[in-house]
Amino acid sequence: MIKVEKNFEDVPAILKDKSREEAFDKNIAAASYCDDKNRYKVASVLNRLKEIYHLKCAYCEQKLLDAPKHIEHYRPKDIYYWLAYSWDNLLLCCGSCNSSKGKKFAVKNTPVKYNDEPFSQIHDLGTKYDEIEKPMIIDPEKDDILDFIAFDNNGKISSNDERVQHTIEKACNLNRDELVELRLEMITDFINAMNEHYFYYLKYKDISRFCPGVKAFIQSCRVENEFYAFRYFVCNNIEIFFQDNKPLQTIMKRLFNTLKKA
Ligand SMILES: [Zn+2]
Repeated sequence: MIKVEKNFEDVPAILKDKSREEAFDKNIAAASYCDDKNRYKVASVLNRLKEIYHLKCAYCEQKLLDAPKHIEHYRPKDIYYWLAYSWDNLLLCCGSCNSSKGKKFAVKNTPVKYNDEPFSQIHDLGTKYDEIEKPMIIDPEKDDILDFIAFDNNGKISSNDERVQHTIEKACNLNRDELVELRLEMITDFINAMNEHYFYYLKYKDISRFCPGVKAFIQSCRVENEFYAFRYFVCNNIEIFFQDNKPLQTIMKRLFNTLKKA
Protein backbone atom coordinates (compact mmCIF):
# COMPACT_ATOMS: atom_id res chain seq x y z
CA MET A 1 0.00 0.00 0.00
CA ILE A 2 2.81 2.36 -0.87
CA LYS A 3 1.92 5.65 -2.50
CA VAL A 4 1.71 5.63 -6.28
CA GLU A 5 1.54 8.57 -8.66
CA LYS A 6 -1.69 8.76 -10.64
CA ASN A 7 -2.76 11.73 -12.70
CA PHE A 8 -6.45 12.10 -11.79
CA GLU A 9 -7.01 14.53 -14.62
CA ASP A 10 -5.71 12.16 -17.27
CA VAL A 11 -8.81 9.94 -17.32
CA PRO A 12 -8.68 7.04 -19.80
CA ALA A 13 -10.99 7.97 -22.71
CA ILE A 14 -13.01 4.78 -22.43
CA LEU A 15 -14.18 5.72 -18.92
CA LYS A 16 -15.74 8.87 -20.38
CA ASP A 17 -17.43 7.32 -23.41
CA LYS A 18 -21.15 6.99 -24.16
CA SER A 19 -21.55 3.33 -23.14
CA ARG A 20 -20.07 4.05 -19.69
CA GLU A 21 -22.39 7.01 -19.33
CA GLU A 22 -25.37 4.79 -20.18
CA ALA A 23 -24.24 2.17 -17.69
CA PHE A 24 -23.76 4.92 -15.09
CA ASP A 25 -27.32 6.17 -15.76
CA LYS A 26 -28.67 2.64 -15.31
CA ASN A 27 -26.86 2.26 -11.99
CA ILE A 28 -28.26 5.58 -10.84
CA ALA A 29 -31.80 4.63 -11.88
CA ALA A 30 -31.52 1.32 -10.02
CA ALA A 31 -29.66 2.90 -7.10
CA SER A 32 -27.31 -0.11 -7.24
CA TYR A 33 -24.54 -1.52 -9.39
CA CYS A 34 -26.21 -3.49 -12.17
CA ASP A 35 -23.67 -3.57 -15.01
CA ASP A 36 -23.58 -7.23 -16.04
CA LYS A 37 -20.73 -6.45 -18.46
CA ASN A 38 -18.52 -4.81 -15.80
CA ARG A 39 -17.61 -2.01 -18.17
CA TYR A 40 -14.84 -0.67 -15.92
CA LYS A 41 -12.92 -3.88 -16.64
CA VAL A 42 -11.26 -3.05 -19.95
CA ALA A 43 -7.74 -3.53 -21.30
CA SER A 44 -6.94 0.17 -21.68
CA VAL A 45 -7.78 0.87 -18.02
CA LEU A 46 -5.93 -2.23 -16.85
CA ASN A 47 -2.84 -1.27 -18.86
CA ARG A 48 -2.78 2.20 -17.34
CA LEU A 49 -3.14 0.75 -13.83
CA LYS A 50 -0.40 -1.82 -14.48
CA GLU A 51 1.94 1.03 -15.29
CA ILE A 52 0.93 3.20 -12.33
CA TYR A 53 1.20 0.30 -9.87
CA HIS A 54 4.40 -1.12 -11.39
CA LEU A 55 2.47 -4.35 -11.97
CA LYS A 56 2.07 -4.80 -8.20
CA CYS A 57 -0.97 -5.28 -5.99
CA ALA A 58 -1.96 -1.92 -4.48
CA TYR A 59 -2.14 -3.48 -1.02
CA CYS A 60 0.21 -6.44 -0.56
CA GLU A 61 2.78 -5.30 -3.16
CA GLN A 62 3.14 -8.72 -4.76
CA LYS A 63 4.25 -8.59 -8.39
CA LEU A 64 1.36 -9.75 -10.55
CA LEU A 65 3.40 -11.17 -13.41
CA ASP A 66 1.42 -14.34 -14.13
CA ALA A 67 -1.16 -13.85 -11.37
CA PRO A 68 -4.66 -12.56 -12.17
CA LYS A 69 -4.81 -8.77 -12.21
CA HIS A 70 -7.98 -7.38 -10.66
CA ILE A 71 -9.30 -3.89 -11.19
CA GLU A 72 -10.47 -3.07 -7.69
CA HIS A 73 -12.76 -0.28 -6.50
CA TYR A 74 -11.34 1.65 -3.54
CA ARG A 75 -14.92 2.53 -2.60
CA PRO A 76 -16.81 -0.72 -3.31
CA LYS A 77 -19.07 -0.48 -6.36
CA ASP A 78 -21.82 -2.39 -4.54
CA ILE A 79 -22.21 0.51 -2.11
CA TYR A 80 -20.88 3.44 -4.17
CA TYR A 81 -22.59 2.34 -7.39
CA TRP A 82 -22.10 5.78 -8.98
CA LEU A 83 -18.30 5.41 -8.68
CA ALA A 84 -18.03 2.17 -10.68
CA TYR A 85 -16.27 3.94 -13.60
CA SER A 86 -14.48 6.67 -11.62
CA TRP A 87 -10.81 6.91 -12.50
CA ASP A 88 -9.76 7.88 -8.97
CA ASN A 89 -11.66 4.91 -7.55
CA LEU A 90 -9.93 2.19 -9.58
CA LEU A 91 -6.77 0.45 -8.48
CA LEU A 92 -4.79 -2.68 -9.31
CA CYS A 93 -5.09 -5.57 -6.91
CA CYS A 94 -4.32 -9.27 -6.44
CA GLY A 95 -7.16 -11.78 -6.06
CA SER A 96 -6.54 -12.37 -2.34
CA CYS A 97 -6.50 -8.68 -1.33
CA ASN A 98 -9.50 -8.04 -3.55
CA SER A 99 -11.61 -10.79 -2.02
CA SER A 100 -10.45 -9.98 1.51
CA LYS A 101 -11.38 -6.31 1.08
CA GLY A 102 -14.65 -7.26 -0.65
CA LYS A 103 -17.53 -4.93 0.14
CA LYS A 104 -15.95 -3.68 3.36
CA PHE A 105 -15.39 0.06 3.59
CA ALA A 106 -15.28 1.32 7.17
CA VAL A 107 -15.53 5.08 7.68
CA LYS A 108 -15.22 7.18 10.84
CA ASN A 109 -18.00 9.57 9.91
CA THR A 110 -21.25 9.09 8.03
CA PRO A 111 -20.92 7.43 4.60
CA VAL A 112 -21.76 9.69 1.66
CA LYS A 113 -24.81 9.05 -0.48
CA TYR A 114 -25.31 9.77 -4.16
CA ASN A 115 -25.95 13.46 -4.48
CA ASP A 116 -26.88 14.01 -8.15
CA GLU A 117 -23.27 14.27 -9.29
CA PRO A 118 -23.25 14.19 -13.10
CA PHE A 119 -21.29 11.56 -15.04
CA SER A 120 -18.74 14.18 -16.11
CA GLN A 121 -17.74 14.79 -12.49
CA ILE A 122 -17.27 11.28 -11.14
CA HIS A 123 -13.52 10.96 -11.72
CA ASP A 124 -12.18 12.93 -8.79
CA LEU A 125 -14.83 12.88 -6.09
CA GLY A 126 -12.59 10.82 -3.83
CA THR A 127 -10.74 13.69 -2.16
CA LYS A 128 -14.01 15.45 -1.27
CA TYR A 129 -15.53 12.20 0.01
CA ASP A 130 -12.41 11.43 2.08
CA GLU A 131 -12.87 14.68 3.99
CA ILE A 132 -16.51 13.92 4.72
CA GLU A 133 -16.26 10.20 5.51
CA LYS A 134 -12.73 9.76 6.92
CA PRO A 135 -12.20 6.25 5.51
CA MET A 136 -10.33 3.71 7.62
CA ILE A 137 -8.67 1.95 4.72
CA ILE A 138 -5.54 3.41 3.14
CA ASP A 139 -5.81 4.76 -0.39
CA PRO A 140 -2.46 4.10 -2.12
CA GLU A 141 -3.18 6.92 -4.55
CA LYS A 142 -3.51 9.53 -1.82
CA ASP A 143 -1.93 8.30 1.42
CA ASP A 144 1.82 8.16 1.89
CA ILE A 145 2.24 5.87 4.89
CA LEU A 146 5.64 4.31 4.19
CA ASP A 147 7.10 5.55 7.48
CA PHE A 148 4.16 4.17 9.47
CA ILE A 149 4.72 0.55 8.49
CA ALA A 150 6.86 -1.80 10.58
CA PHE A 151 7.90 -5.44 10.18
CA ASP A 152 9.25 -7.98 12.65
CA ASN A 153 12.03 -10.45 11.90
CA ASN A 154 9.40 -13.04 10.93
CA GLY A 155 8.13 -10.90 8.06
CA LYS A 156 4.95 -9.83 9.86
CA ILE A 157 3.68 -6.34 9.13
CA SER A 158 2.17 -3.97 11.72
CA SER A 159 1.61 -0.28 12.42
CA ASN A 160 0.91 2.12 15.27
CA ASP A 161 -1.29 4.11 12.93
CA GLU A 162 -4.96 3.22 13.31
CA ARG A 163 -5.80 3.37 9.60
CA VAL A 164 -2.73 1.45 8.48
CA GLN A 165 -3.40 -1.24 11.09
CA HIS A 166 -7.04 -1.41 9.97
CA THR A 167 -5.89 -1.95 6.38
CA ILE A 168 -3.39 -4.62 7.43
CA GLU A 169 -5.73 -6.61 9.66
CA LYS A 170 -9.35 -5.91 8.92
CA ALA A 171 -9.37 -4.95 5.25
CA CYS A 172 -6.64 -6.84 3.41
CA ASN A 173 -5.28 -9.47 5.78
CA LEU A 174 -1.67 -8.59 4.97
CA ASN A 175 -0.29 -11.15 7.42
CA ARG A 176 -1.77 -14.10 5.57
CA ASP A 177 0.58 -17.10 5.56
CA GLU A 178 1.71 -16.99 1.94
CA LEU A 179 2.61 -13.29 2.13
CA VAL A 180 4.55 -13.61 5.38
CA GLU A 181 6.41 -16.56 3.88
CA LEU A 182 7.34 -14.65 0.71
CA ARG A 183 8.65 -11.68 2.71
CA LEU A 184 10.55 -13.99 5.03
CA GLU A 185 12.07 -15.81 2.07
CA MET A 186 13.38 -12.52 0.68
CA ILE A 187 15.14 -11.52 3.91
CA THR A 188 16.29 -15.06 4.76
CA ASP A 189 18.29 -15.31 1.54
CA PHE A 190 20.06 -12.09 2.44
CA ILE A 191 20.66 -13.09 6.07
CA ASN A 192 22.07 -16.48 5.04
CA ALA A 193 24.47 -14.87 2.57
CA MET A 194 25.69 -12.43 5.24
CA ASN A 195 26.14 -15.24 7.77
CA GLU A 196 28.26 -17.11 5.28
CA HIS A 197 30.44 -14.04 4.77
CA TYR A 198 30.69 -13.67 8.53
CA PHE A 199 32.17 -17.14 8.78
CA TYR A 200 35.03 -16.03 6.49
CA TYR A 201 35.20 -12.63 8.11
CA LEU A 202 36.14 -14.27 11.43
CA LYS A 203 39.07 -15.84 9.66
CA TYR A 204 40.30 -13.01 7.44
CA LYS A 205 38.82 -9.90 9.12
CA ASP A 206 37.97 -8.47 5.74
CA ILE A 207 34.80 -6.40 5.97
CA SER A 208 34.71 -5.68 2.22
CA ARG A 209 33.30 -9.12 1.46
CA PHE A 210 29.93 -8.00 2.88
CA CYS A 211 29.75 -4.93 0.66
CA PRO A 212 28.48 -6.30 -2.70
CA GLY A 213 25.57 -8.09 -0.98
CA VAL A 214 24.62 -5.07 1.12
CA LYS A 215 24.90 -2.77 -1.89
CA ALA A 216 22.73 -5.09 -3.97
CA PHE A 217 20.11 -5.15 -1.23
CA ILE A 218 20.09 -1.36 -0.94
CA GLN A 219 19.81 -1.06 -4.72
CA SER A 220 16.87 -3.45 -4.72
CA CYS A 221 15.00 -1.01 -2.49
CA ARG A 222 13.11 0.57 -5.38
CA VAL A 223 9.48 1.43 -5.63
CA GLU A 224 8.94 -0.79 -8.69
CA ASN A 225 10.22 -3.92 -6.92
CA GLU A 226 8.08 -6.42 -5.06
CA PHE A 227 7.62 -5.63 -1.35
CA TYR A 228 9.21 -2.20 -1.56
CA ALA A 229 7.81 -1.21 1.87
CA PHE A 230 9.50 -4.24 3.42
CA ARG A 231 12.82 -3.57 1.67
CA TYR A 232 12.64 0.08 2.77
CA PHE A 233 12.00 -0.96 6.37
CA VAL A 234 14.86 -3.49 6.32
CA CYS A 235 17.28 -0.87 4.97
CA ASN A 236 16.38 1.49 7.81
CA ASN A 237 16.11 -1.12 10.59
CA ILE A 238 18.66 -3.76 9.68
CA GLU A 239 19.48 -4.47 13.36
CA ILE A 240 16.09 -6.15 13.85
CA PHE A 241 17.06 -8.89 11.43
CA PHE A 242 20.47 -9.73 12.95
CA GLN A 243 19.54 -9.99 16.61
CA ASP A 244 21.14 -13.36 17.31
CA ASN A 245 24.60 -12.33 16.11
CA LYS A 246 25.59 -9.09 17.81
CA PRO A 247 29.00 -8.58 16.09
CA LEU A 248 27.40 -9.16 12.67
CA GLN A 249 24.54 -6.89 13.67
CA THR A 250 27.04 -4.09 14.36
CA ILE A 251 28.76 -4.67 10.99
CA MET A 252 25.41 -4.62 9.15
CA LYS A 253 24.28 -1.45 10.86
CA ARG A 254 27.50 0.29 9.98
CA LEU A 255 27.51 -0.87 6.37
CA PHE A 256 23.87 0.01 5.74
CA ASN A 257 24.39 3.46 7.23
CA THR A 258 27.48 4.11 5.11
CA LEU A 259 26.42 2.49 1.84
CA LYS A 260 22.90 3.96 1.87
CA LYS A 261 24.48 7.38 1.55
CA ALA A 262 26.87 6.28 -1.20
ZN1 LIG B 1 -2.57 -8.15 -2.80
